[in-house]
Amino acid sequence: MNKCFISALFLSIELTAFAQPFHLPTANQALFEKGGEERFFVPTTGHDWTAGCFGCVRSGGWQMHEGLDIKCLQRDRRGEPTDPVMPAADGTVVYMSDHPALSNYGRYLVLRHNIGGMEIYSLYAHLSAFAPDLKVGQTVRSGEKVAVMGRTSNTHEGISKERAHVHFELNLFYNDHFKLWYKKHYPTEHDDHGIWNGQNLVGIDPRLILLAERDEGPRFDLLHWVQQRPELCRVFVRKTDFSWPRRYPMLVKNDPAIPKDRIAGYEMALDFNGLPFELIPRSAAQVKGTAKYTLLSVNETEYVKNPCRKLVTRQGKHWQLSNNGLNLLDLLTY
Ligand SMILES: [Zn+2]
Repeated sequence: MNKCFISALFLSIELTAFAQPFHLPTANQALFEKGGEERFFVPTTGHDWTAGCFGCVRSGGWQMHEGLDIKCLQRDRRGEPTDPVMPAADGTVVYMSDHPALSNYGRYLVLRHNIGGMEIYSLYAHLSAFAPDLKVGQTVRSGEKVAVMGRTSNTHEGISKERAHVHFELNLFYNDHFKLWYKKHYPTEHDDHGIWNGQNLVGIDPRLILLAERDEGPRFDLLHWVQQRPELCRVFVRKTDFSWPRRYPMLVKNDPAIPKDRIAGYEMALDFNGLPFELIPRSAAQVKGTAKYTLLSVNETEYVKNPCRKLVTRQGKHWQLSNNGLNLLDLLTY
């Protein structure tokens, strides 16, 4: 092998390793076009395109929308959407919900991806059909047709033909013990989707990620992006044995001064959507009291900007964890 060939080989390996991790899941690429937002996002009726984005964009900023609603480009003679839906990255099929009446997601698909060692889950909702022969466990490639856009949902109002879209999410995964947690919290409700219930997935903003990838090219680093989330609050959880630090060890900042057997819990930084993007092990001596969960600080600027998950609440001058916040920590550490 000559030298030039070898270096070309290394270059191609490097390009593969650092290639853009995510792609848009349909042929609609207007997100990347200047002023293309109206051709890309499907808002809720009577609102502008921002209502189709990720974030506190519904009910006057007090309701979270955890994905992107992407407009259809193709329709059949009856006006039904027919756009092929493609994986946002190479991955594995982990869940196919073929019972549209069981979720406001309608018929939906969840894929697992490994991006630089980090597990990320993409979700595609309101589908009309899966690709024939698609099975759980199957490996899929980005660009391959895995489903067809539709407008399935179990909500009372449904999705009109005009608003036909795919609801697209990128998520991290909260807890392997979700089923037990669900049983405890909703004893009378049937758990239709097991660990693939949307509540067990915590969304990150696909729009920000895709635009950062476009702007940064091969320098884009998903882990770094996650670590840079604006902080809503900092909490201490008096527990060490739970799924999150095992699944996402890259988010744990280990302090070699604390021996492993002395770790009493984790100080965690959460973003407004409840994503724990930084965990710092703490010894018992470093944390006052004996409470299971302690709110350490709140970033008021971030709370004012993105309040819709209502994870913290203010009583006079004092901030405290809300029921939503406590619920989330309970799910995370169950
Ligand atoms: Zn949506």
